[in-house]
Amino acid sequence: MGDMEQTPRAKVLDRRAIAAAEKPVKLRSTRGRKPKAPTVPPVVKEESNVFMMPVTSARSLKVVFLGGIGEIGKNMTALEYGDDIIVIDCGLSFPTIDMPGIDSVIPDTTYLMENKDRVRGIFITHGHEDHIGAVPYVLQQLNVPLYASALTLALLEHKLEEHKLNEKVTLVTATKGSVFRAGCFSVEYVKVNHSVAGSFALNITTPVGTVFHTGDFKVDYTPVDGEIIDLHRIAEIGKRGVHLLLCESTNVERPGYSMSESAVGKSLDKIFADNAGKRLFIATFASNVHRLQQIMDLAEKYGRKVAFSGRSMLTVCEAASKIGELKYDPYIVVDVEKIERMQLKNVVVITTGAQGEPMSALTRMASGEFSKINIGYDDTIVISASPIPGNEKMVYNVINNLYRLGAHVIYESLAEVHASGHACQEEIKLIHALTKPKFFIPVHGEYRHLEKHAELAVALGMPRANIVISDTGSVVEVDRRSIRIAGSIPAENVFVDGSGIGDIGAEVLRDRKHLSADGLMAVFVNVDQFTGEFSHPEVVSRGFVYAKDSEDLFEASKDVVESVLSKVDGKAVEDWSVVKTAVRKELGGYLYRMTKRRPMIIVMIVPN
Ligand SMILES: [Zn+2]
Ligand SMILES: [Zn+2]
Repeated sequence: MGDMEQTPRAKVLDRRAIAAAEKPVKLRSTRGRKPKAPTVPPVVKEESNVFMMPVTSARSLKVVFLGGIGEIGKNMTALEYGDDIIVIDCGLSFPTIDMPGIDSVIPDTTYLMENKDRVRGIFITHGHEDHIGAVPYVLQQLNVPLYASALTLALLEHKLEEHKLNEKVTLVTATKGSVFRAGCFSVEYVKVNHSVAGSFALNITTPVGTVFHTGDFKVDYTPVDGEIIDLHRIAEIGKRGVHLLLCESTNVERPGYSMSESAVGKSLDKIFADNAGKRLFIATFASNVHRLQQIMDLAEKYGRKVAFSGRSMLTVCEAASKIGELKYDPYIVVDVEKIERMQLKNVVVITTGAQGEPMSALTRMASGEFSKINIGYDDTIVISASPIPGNEKMVYNVINNLYRLGAHVIYESLAEVHASGHACQEEIKLIHALTKPKFFIPVHGEYRHLEKHAELAVALGMPRANIVISDTGSVVEVDRRSIRIAGSIPAENVFVDGSGIGDIGAEVLRDRKHLSADGLMAVFVNVDQFTGEFSHPEVVSRGFVYAKDSEDLFEASKDVVESVLSKVDGKAVEDWSVVKTAVRKELGGYLYRMTKRRPMIIVMIVPN
């Protein structure tokens, strides 16, 4: 997903600016001062949204982390005060290598389901899968209003349709400066830059003070849509006093600044110019609408038609152009089926598969399995993305295969064809300096990112005692004077496999891993119900040894089973599981001695 990308070394934009920002910014500590009463947010567009709060409440705010802390993925956080709960984001994560067969992982929402009546709304920061992927699963059980930008809602639309939910749910469009009231909270949408358009930070007014949640962001002074992150508004919010900052940590290890999205456009422009006589393919994240916009603008400039390849590419383009987020002349788009008949220089194909996903169009093109397009010497392929950690091997496989077919491949280590959507250190420092929070919780990162982010905040002058490094499942309690981890909630991974949600537990996964690593041997034995005599056992194996070469092993295995059974008087057996366990143990020991492998052993004793 677009937001887990990496960038090449951040480009240095302005030495003086960097030097200034690198100086540690001394933050004034608000400790010991009399806490100010929280104030009404100044940008309130609708009368009904004016937020009245109990100024003298002694109660505390709970920040409940359902996901996204200590991991990158399945972001979901709840804020709770008194009888009211609001939810920020509702994402999924993709399975790791130790989760065979799993389609996706969603947060454990037991806590929310137990407190259903108190949940006032779900506020989505932006349309990446790690922020919206679990929405259909959660809305099925929790029918509350969902707030998100127009593009985010457009990206959600087909997911909700798939789950037959679009008629049943209340969707509210948020734009820059929108303020929504939800119970005792009010939530303002503050524009940020990121690798998907329609991304927002949230300025949340709570009875204990302002909570500022950055969402995923970067500071892009030359964004493709011309709208810079609303630093002015963030400074204003900071001036009024931010009680708690939740700031993303994805790129906190990277010094300097992230590259501007428009710099990618410049690199791509050069590639268009240099490859005038060739057919061009550009693989990128479908959700990066601004990247798509730049490619389509270049296509127009260089007189090429655009063909989309990959289902998500088509879905996103349709959704984004419907709401005016992606602008192009419909005449420029051609069906991908037609491009084999077109002149090379007349077409650019925008395709999915930038992560080397096995089923994607690019991967299939690279392995020659995509019937619509044949790759060859006259093709230039640009991978306009960087591999998400864990995907490197798949991506490089695709690149190797493309080279084998004779194509020319341009990827991130060769040219600036990708920009990360996440803030690097100097951008993160800017947000800390502008918001001047009293308390801080780093979010959206693995543990090392969170720790590094805490160090960065301390370097900017924040007392370590005012920072909490949390975990998925932690409940952090914040009042006017203090912050602490106060408890925990259930936060196991919930696995989605096919149509099953949460029915796959650790045990099934353990079996899948065992099977995939060591294979299986099954033993079948009949037992006579009257005499208690056992039949001669049969054995079958899969993924363990090559059966044709292993007849001796199989025969010897049968002997081992028989010798165990011979010690058992069938009639007297009350608990067959004892017999099965004994067979498994003996046979397992024998097979390990012979092969140094430990297949899963299944014993079936069938009475007849
Ligand atoms: Zn994102
Ligand atoms: Zn994210």
